[in-house]
Order: sequence, then structure tokens, then C-alpha cells
Amino acid sequence: MKRHHICLLPGDGIGPEVVGQARRVLDALQLPLEYSQGEIGYGAYQKLGTPLPEETLAAVSRADAVLFGAVTTPPNIPGYFSAIIRLRQTFALYANVRPCRSIPHPSSRPQINLVIVRENTEDLYSGIERVEEGGNRAISEMIITRQASEKILQKAFSLARDLHFHKVTVVHKANVLRATCGLFLAVAQEVAAQYHDLEMQDMLVDTCAMELIRDPGQFQVIVTTNLFGDILSDEASMLVGGLGVACSGNIGERTAIFEPVHGSAPKIAGQHKANPLATFLSTAMMLDFLGEPEPARRLERAVTETIRLGQVTEDLGGHLTTEEATSSVLEML
Ligand code: ATP
Repeated sequence: MKRHHICLLPGDGIGPEVVGQARRVLDALQLPLEYSQGEIGYGAYQKLGTPLPEETLAAVSRADAVLFGAVTTPPNIPGYFSAIIRLRQTFALYANVRPCRSIPHPSSRPQINLVIVRENTEDLYSGIERVEEGGNRAISEMIITRQASEKILQKAFSLARDLHFHKVTVVHKANVLRATCGLFLAVAQEVAAQYHDLEMQDMLVDTCAMELIRDPGQFQVIVTTNLFGDILSDEASMLVGGLGVACSGNIGERTAIFEPVHGSAPKIAGQHKANPLATFLSTAMMLDFLGEPEPARRLERAVTETIRLGQVTEDLGGHLTTEEATSSVLEML
């Protein structure tokens, strides 16, 4: 049996709390795993003078997959950079994948099972910006390339096939952004032609934002460019229980980093209040990536069951601590 090497990057705030609990869950699954751990974020900066030390980069390079907690980005430190954004760039993590599935909880709408696949490297987040006319005119460049579009669209269509879905919705604004979104849509049509078993639907981003609220059950895989994906994935997560359960993966050719969508929540750090379930669901995504679908499904079922029984932290209306909520998941396992 292949041993998988997992690099844990707990980070700041509630990051170490939720990643620590994920380690308990992974141990209980009794898989052939080995671990390394890296420092990252503001804590690393205070200790070592950089939010992303060389040793952490080396540990990520050696790992088969990475489980990341959260980092705090402090304001006003010249030269400080976001360690997670730097990691996404360094390891060319071109796809951000965010599943949104109904949970048995009053905060979740029923019968939602969709995945948002967001391009993670270009678009308006190209970082090419300038201010002209003495500060009165500002320009940010939106860059879309055939190569990056093809990669993300291939990822979305193959993921749809793996998940036994039959439809991919390509979201764009090609009626206005004819050059950039026009290219994305044209590439989508080419890629779709290679997947005869899947239906491609294209939808304007404003329509999609509305349809997600009106009838989210119609969607299976949504694939889109960086900015639209950023907004739509946050919107969609609120349909199915919110931050405490929202999981994600940043996928590259060589490695992938899985993380809860929430940040470091410094206000509740150290109080045993953090909901660990988003990290557990991210862990399940990581197990799928490592080719371990059976324990991934077991873990997802255990999380769903604890929610159904109300064995949850305060944010989901329960009264358990982080550790108790984890113990409940372990019992279900
Ligand atoms: P950061 O600056 O790191 O993004 P933040 O507190 O501004 O931190 P989030 O960490 O995303 O942003 O959290 C926003 C709020 O949502 C938190 O203050 C917290 O109350 C709540 N929250 C986020 N994650 C969790 C969690 N896992 N469990 C419980 N509550 C959470």
C-alpha cells in the first residue's frame, strides 16, 4: 500500500486548533500516512522573520498533499506578503475547487450538490495595476489566456465526469467583456466538444448569482474565471451552512493544498469554540486527491451524522467545544 506524505501547515489563530483536530481524525482512519509540519503566517514572521520560511516551502515540495489551517495577515508591515497566495503561485495551484453540499441543519437549503471550479492564477487578479492622472484614474488589467482557460476547463469537465454529473455550467460575462470572457467561452466550447457525455451550459455571471439563490439545485459543476469564482463561491457557501463547514482545495499539477474557507478568526482563537468541520471536509477532499475515496466518504458521512444529531459547536447552534465536536465525529467513524 502506498504511503502518503502529508504536510500540515496549521498557521495562525484557530488554524492550529482545527488542523490539530484533523490530525486526530486522520489517525483514527488508520491510513498509511506520514506527516511533516511547517510554520506559516504571522506567527512564523514573528519567530523567523518571514511568513513563509524556506523549510516550509521544502516541506510542501516533498509532500503528496498539504492541509492548511489559516493565516492572519497583519496590516501595515512593509514587505509582508500573504503566505497562502505565495504558495498558490509557487506551486502553480491553478484550480480552486469548492464543493457546496446541503447539510442536515436549518441554516442549509436542501438538495444542493454542486462544485465551483475557479481559475486561480489570472483574470483581474493578475496583479498588473497602475494609477494615472495624479491618482484620478486607476487601471487593473484583466488577463485571460487560452492556456490557463483550457487547463481550468479540462479540470472542470473531468471532475464532472468523475463525480458522475451530467452538466457543466460555464459562467462568464462575454456580452460585455467580449475579448476576455469571449476567449474563455470560446475555449469552453472547444473543451466541451471533447466530452460528449456532458452537457455544457453557459450563463452570464449576473444570471448565475441570481439563479444560485432562486434554484441552486439546478447546478452541478460551475466553472468560471478568478473574480467571478471568488464571489460566487462565497455566495454558494452561505446556502449550505456557511463558514463553519465550507471546504476547499487548491489543485496544481504536482501537489494540492486543502483548506477550510474561513480565516484565522482571531476573536475566537484559544477559546475552544472553533468549528473543526470545515477542516474535516477539506481533509476528505485531500483523501480523494490522494486516491483514498473510501475513507473520504466515511469521513463525510461521519461529519453529516454529527450535524444531524446536533453534536456541533456554537456557530451551528450547538454547545460543544472544538475537541468535543471532534470526538463526536470520531465516534461516528
Ligand atoms: P482573518 O483576518 O484571518 O480572515 P476573520 O475573523 O476576519 O479572520 P474569518 O476567520 O473568516 O475572518 O471569520 C469571520 C468570523 O466567522 C469569525 O470572527 C468567527 O466568528 C466566525 N468563524 C469563522 N470560522 C469559524 C469556525 N471555524 N468556527 C466558528 N466560527 C467561525
